[in-house]
Amino acid sequence: MTAEYDVIIVGGGPSGSVAAMYLGKAGKKVLLIDKAPFPRDKTCGDAQGRKAANIMKELGIYEGYEQLPGQKIYGLTLSSPDGTQVHVDVEDRKNPPPGYVHKRAVFDGYLFECAKKAVETKILTLKDVIVEDDVVKGVVGVNQSGQTEEIRAKIVLAADGALSVIARKFGLVDNPPEHVISALRIYYKNVKGLTDRLELHLVDKLIPGYFWIFPLPNNEANVGLGMIIKDMQEKKVNLKQAVLDEIKNNPLFKDRFADAQSLEDVKGWTLPIASHHRKVYGNGFLLLGDAASLIDPLSGEGVGNAMISAKVAAEVCIEALQEDRFDENFLKRYDKKLWDVIGDEIKANTRLQVLGKKHPHLIDKLIGKAAKSEEFRKEFEKLLPYTGGRKKIGSAMFLKMLIKG
Ligand SMILES: Cc1cc2nc3c(=O)[nH]c(=O)nc-3n(C[C@H](O)[C@H](O)[C@H](O)COP(=O)(O)OP(=O)(O)OC[C@H]3O[C@@H](n4cnc5c(N)ncnc54)[C@H](O)[C@@H]3O)c2cc1C
Repeated sequence: MTAEYDVIIVGGGPSGSVAAMYLGKAGKKVLLIDKAPFPRDKTCGDAQGRKAANIMKELGIYEGYEQLPGQKIYGLTLSSPDGTQVHVDVEDRKNPPPGYVHKRAVFDGYLFECAKKAVETKILTLKDVIVEDDVVKGVVGVNQSGQTEEIRAKIVLAADGALSVIARKFGLVDNPPEHVISALRIYYKNVKGLTDRLELHLVDKLIPGYFWIFPLPNNEANVGLGMIIKDMQEKKVNLKQAVLDEIKNNPLFKDRFADAQSLEDVKGWTLPIASHHRKVYGNGFLLLGDAASLIDPLSGEGVGNAMISAKVAAEVCIEALQEDRFDENFLKRYDKKLWDVIGDEIKANTRLQVLGKKHPHLIDKLIGKAAKSEEFRKEFEKLLPYTGGRKKIGSAMFLKMLIKG
């Protein structure tokens, strides 16, 4: 049977929508499916950094993004396990902000709208894939009328998130518990002392996880915490209790939350992290974003790498369509190309994450030093998650500088 589409993309989150835009621009016949219409909420910290900005600039959708209701971000506030706090600004306020906090309902809704202009879209819940001669040839899904549909394509992109149906079908979601973060989010109103910085608080009990307060417009804040599941199990941490404890009892925050109102119940979700290098391709399919386990192991930032994977996957799809090759021997080039782009940073940040867990006093030292020395702070700010370059933070040279200092 002939394929109706060149590419079917499953999932209209950041990875799926961005892949759709790249493929649509290249003139490919694409169907983008998602199980539910946008805009809608997604449990997240809502922060987007430079990587996401660069992709949106390349796609020509950054100007529209800047107009969305969101909070400009110019720096970070960090606190160490011993309670030292430092404010680090990574950009002059006269310049465009290096990051933003947009609620995912707003951000994903915008990306999906942009994707809709580039490709065909459909509400369809993926249930399975069509496999013939060991090769994925399309999708099986349930439409909004409850009918089952089979749609064929030459290649399928799985951008269907942490619980990806396709990754599960091919046994590719088996991250060990040290390579998965569990995280919670609550929207609050009227938290005192919000600024235009993201706040990452490296609380003793949660190391190397952290408690975050990310500012939003209208005096709202995205508040949450994340922790590696293995550490959570070992330290017997109940995440929901832990987030409420921090808010109520931590001397850094309790006054700031005294008059704050939570706007919802705690919401949780899973983050498959890239310290586990997952196989991201197979006969007739590629995995993108969370389905490919690409979240940064140190910061929990996933949107940037999800969008990068979408760009690389679109390039590989275009090559596959040109060569008429959809077997995994051909498609494995996606893994190489992707890790050539993100691999160094992931390795460096994995190192730092492990180091922070083993030696939390080094975090005290790092933040203490940044609090005292302007010169060190200037070096440090170039390396920070979301807003900075980040390439060097876990490098051997950086670690030496930290240990010596
Ligand atoms: C609490 C928390 C806080 C986070 N904070 C941040 C942050 O501040 N910044 C950051 O960069 N990252 C953050 N992340 C990570 C980030 O949310 C993800 O990395 C990012 O959403 C990955 O994008 P994606 O497109 O791969 O997947 P998703 O955004 O999960 O999109 C998957 C899409 O697939 C669709 N789908 C799923 N199953 C099916 C199906 N069967 N059929 C059809 N469609 C389907 C879904 O509806 C969804 O639209 C956080 C994650 C959590 C859990």
